[in-house]
Amino acid sequence: MITQNLGYPRIGAKRELKKACEQYWSGKIDIDSLEQEGKRLREANWKLQQEAGIDLIPVNDFSFYDQVLDMSLILGAIPKRFSNVFLEEDHTLDLYFAMARGYQKNGFDITAMEMTKWFDTNYHYIVPEFYKEQQFKLSSSKFLDEFKEAKSMGIKAKPVLIGPVSYLLLGKEKEEGFNRLDHIEKLLPVYLEILQQLQDEGAEWIQFDEPFLVTDLNKEEAAVYKKTYEIIANRFPELKVVLATYFEGLKDNASWVVDLPVEVLHLDLVRAEDQLENVLKIAPDSLKLSLGVVDGRNIWKNDYDKSLALIDTAVKTIGAERMLIAPSCSLLHSPFDLDNETDEKTLPAEVKNWMAFAKQKLNEVVDLASLAGEKRTSELEALQEANRLAMQSKKESKRIHNPKVEERVNKIDNSYSRRKSTFSKRQQLQEKSLKLPLFPTTTIGSFPQTREVRLLRSQLKKGTLSQEDYQKAIEEEIDKAIAWQESIGLDVLVHGEFERNDMVEYFGEQLDGFAFTKFGWVQSYGSRGVKPPIIYGDVDRVEPMTVSWTTYAQKQTGLPVKGMLTGPITILQWSFVRNDQPRETTANQIALAICKEVQDLEAAGIKIIQIDEPAIREGLPLRKADWKNYLEWAIKAFRISASGVEDATQIHTHMCYSEFNDMIESIAAMDADVITIETSRSHMELLDAFVNFKYPNEIGPGVYDIHSPRVPNVEEMETLLNKASELIPVRNLWVNPDCGLKTRGWKETDEALRAMVDAAKRLRAKFQVEA
Ligand code: GLN
Ligand code: ZN
Repeated sequence: MITQNLGYPRIGAKRELKKACEQYWSGKIDIDSLEQEGKRLREANWKLQQEAGIDLIPVNDFSFYDQVLDMSLILGAIPKRFSNVFLEEDHTLDLYFAMARGYQKNGFDITAMEMTKWFDTNYHYIVPEFYKEQQFKLSSSKFLDEFKEAKSMGIKAKPVLIGPVSYLLLGKEKEEGFNRLDHIEKLLPVYLEILQQLQDEGAEWIQFDEPFLVTDLNKEEAAVYKKTYEIIANRFPELKVVLATYFEGLKDNASWVVDLPVEVLHLDLVRAEDQLENVLKIAPDSLKLSLGVVDGRNIWKNDYDKSLALIDTAVKTIGAERMLIAPSCSLLHSPFDLDNETDEKTLPAEVKNWMAFAKQKLNEVVDLASLAGEKRTSELEALQEANRLAMQSKKESKRIHNPKVEERVNKIDNSYSRRKSTFSKRQQLQEKSLKLPLFPTTTIGSFPQTREVRLLRSQLKKGTLSQEDYQKAIEEEIDKAIAWQESIGLDVLVHGEFERNDMVEYFGEQLDGFAFTKFGWVQSYGSRGVKPPIIYGDVDRVEPMTVSWTTYAQKQTGLPVKGMLTGPITILQWSFVRNDQPRETTANQIALAICKEVQDLEAAGIKIIQIDEPAIREGLPLRKADWKNYLEWAIKAFRISASGVEDATQIHTHMCYSEFNDMIESIAAMDADVITIETSRSHMELLDAFVNFKYPNEIGPGVYDIHSPRVPNVEEMETLLNKASELIPVRNLWVNPDCGLKTRGWKETDEALRAMVDAAKRLRAKFQVEA
């Protein structure tokens, strides 16, 4: 059986690419050094894959920023605003980075291209911009250069390209009057040129990534797919095309996708194992199948017995000659190399033995292909035995299974996810207890994380600062923050989150069932990475996590201090999660842990508690038909975390994005007493969903964009609030920024929040006069 890989992480084992790019951007190294570092990383990756024994090694999966942006440059889809600065022959990395990051130099101020999430991953790509009179033209030889580079190392690689249809679907029409799919006729000739050049250079295989094949497609889109791949097959009958699908099953699209004239269809059998049976049944004899059995999206060791059973089913139906073995998707979404993890304190050896990163996953692919073959060596037997032992230990480990937690989750019934009374009754009680003015002002939680604050945390971690000294220093920060909030006139205060590195990691570090890595970075966008915690076992809260900081802050003031927690879905969504139980079960365990924290905060006298859920939306499944089920359990998990308190305790939630139209009912079903959302950049347009739906609870539409250092003035915010008060009953309105302030400086934060408080005062005056 042939083995293939779909893509490899390009950031390097120790994030070398991040360092090189950032050094180049800040002028510390020149372009040649950057190019050289890129070359070095590519060669190291190819060698690794070659040594692991992968047959089809990808090229053009490397990128200095993003593979979709690479494609835009190759295809010449370069927005006009960049041609003022960059000449046509000047299509270098500088243009490339300008498209990704904007260009504010030499008197120019050119905005970057938009960035958005790559399907349901935490990777972000640069959105292609399409215009009515769009022209495409081969504009970069990156794909060919990298193919040649590998060839010179003796590797006949498989170039990876984003398929033409997905490329168009990934983009956005930037003006009215056309449909971007209609550009396929102009686009296809450039793809054919690319294929010609690759074939001339000796390429036999091509991988087209067409992840849109797993999404809801209409008839027209299906027709474009058929026509496109027919044209390619007719022009290049010799070229072996791998059509890569991932992140979901083909479902209803399978019936026509199997008839596309390609050599190999790649299936994600981790996300959608159930599609195999159907595809095996309907695939024509001419089609080979690539079985994506090794999980490219998570960090667990493959269960060989389970994968071999799947492989065996396929062998029996179509024969080994028609099969390839592969990871489920590009390994871009996996951390680099588990061998680099040596800190037993954050990642116990027992847990590490259940895991595999990208490098280990390559070996798994090769092992599986060998194990599925005829020849059994003693070495293979040993491999399989070791894998069985690891699976066995994961199944039974006391580290994973906590009977008390499992019992508690089993006991969850409807009473766990319901507040005592309806919102209107709660609102009355809360108004009586909190006595807040009209248009109460608050912030979203974090305050500027200065160098000094970050230094405190790192010194504590290193052991150069004692626990007592650390506590004293953080308390001083809290004192200052409280006094300052009082002085500028805010109504509901926060402690400032100075003790938190990250809103998920902070809680994960204190919860049972979590482990951490040192180098488990995954690219998020450009040079930015995330290092998600690993949820390996039953989640339990052993002791209070935030109560002492919050009550300390509350003691310094007569005004209410808002407790600050991260919600169960956000913790789930931003971690690597266990694969031995449904996500829903893990979400419920986290929800129970947060619920206990909420109750402890209440018992300690905290009257307002915010449970942040910025990640609820990104958990939405790729297929609309699956949304309902997800939203049901996700919303329920949030409600479990929030429902254990008295009516007079006010629960806030926060979401820092803005598309609510298609899920507003679920947002309302969360039944938080107050929700704060992002709205300032769209000038309150995003409130529409709430208005049309007649959202019943209180709401704080952000009046100030914290993503920019710009300080908004009072009038601007007053205008926004006036607009909001025409749309929402004023009794329900709050005044707050779009999101937390940890990335801002103190000076601009001070000016902006003073102006915000003034704007709230002006509205109060206006409405009191009117009343
Ligand atoms: N409370 C968090 C903060 O203020 C919320 C962050 C977020 O929504 N991403 O930083
Ligand atoms: Zn936010």
